[in-house]
Amino acid sequence: MRIDLISIFPEFFDVLDLSLIGKAQREELLTLHRHQLRDFSFDKHRSVDDTPTGGGAGMVMKPEPWALALEHVLAQRETPSAEPPVLIIPTPAGEVLTQRTAQQLAQAEHLVFAPGRFEGIDQRLMDWAPEHFQVRPMSIGDYVLNGGESAVVVMVEAITRLIPGVLGNPESLAEESHADGLLEYPVYTKPARWRGVDVPEILLSGDHAKIAAWRAKQQDLRTRKLRPDLWAKHVVAREQNLT
Ligand code: SAM
Repeated sequence: MRIDLISIFPEFFDVLDLSLIGKAQREELLTLHRHQLRDFSFDKHRSVDDTPTGGGAGMVMKPEPWALALEHVLAQRETPSAEPPVLIIPTPAGEVLTQRTAQQLAQAEHLVFAPGRFEGIDQRLMDWAPEHFQVRPMSIGDYVLNGGESAVVVMVEAITRLIPGVLGNPESLAEESHADGLLEYPVYTKPARWRGVDVPEILLSGDHAKIAAWRAKQQDLRTRKLRPDLWAKHVVAREQNLT
């Protein structure tokens, strides 16, 4: 997978060189390309923002540096005839990222991220972009960040860990929270007794079938207790599958 990250703070993405995503880059499972948005602004101050038309607080990102940066990304494609890259525009007004969307996006060959700053990007950029990209305005939750870079880091991590080969043990994905609409079961390690509290005895039994059944039950109980909203959806989905 190729990922292009465009920002006025491209160094924000240095965290993506650490840990498993850094390793995945070294193993060429994915390539990250960072771009400085100001390189596509040609006035004296390389400015990328201006006052809001119609008045009001804050500043708005100008569309032209964004369009030039995005055209630069398009020009770098090795196979320009392939399907257009997915352009993810982080915004609190977007579709909220879920594990299911992350699974879908992990199949893409080319993702481009356009995180905003200030009051966001001039709307005309969003109207222009679908001619060249598959555009996905996306949010990481119902709250407002200062800029989209931290949302990009969250999205890149959630998506790229699902690319085959990125995680050491792919089996760990199957039972994770949200993989099938439920939360994961509680996990334990050694010692078997810690500060007077024992791990559930069944986990020491060596009986894999019984352990799997206990874990499945725990997934139900935990989801019901901690996320009744997810549990309600799960019950509906289960009933629909039965009918
Ligand atoms: N004025 C905008 C509004 O009310 O919707 C908020 C702009 S915010 C201060 C600046 C940038 O942060 C946005 O353009 C977006 O890229 C990013 N951002 C803020 N909250 C976000 C969220 N919940 N999810 C994804 N991106 C977010």
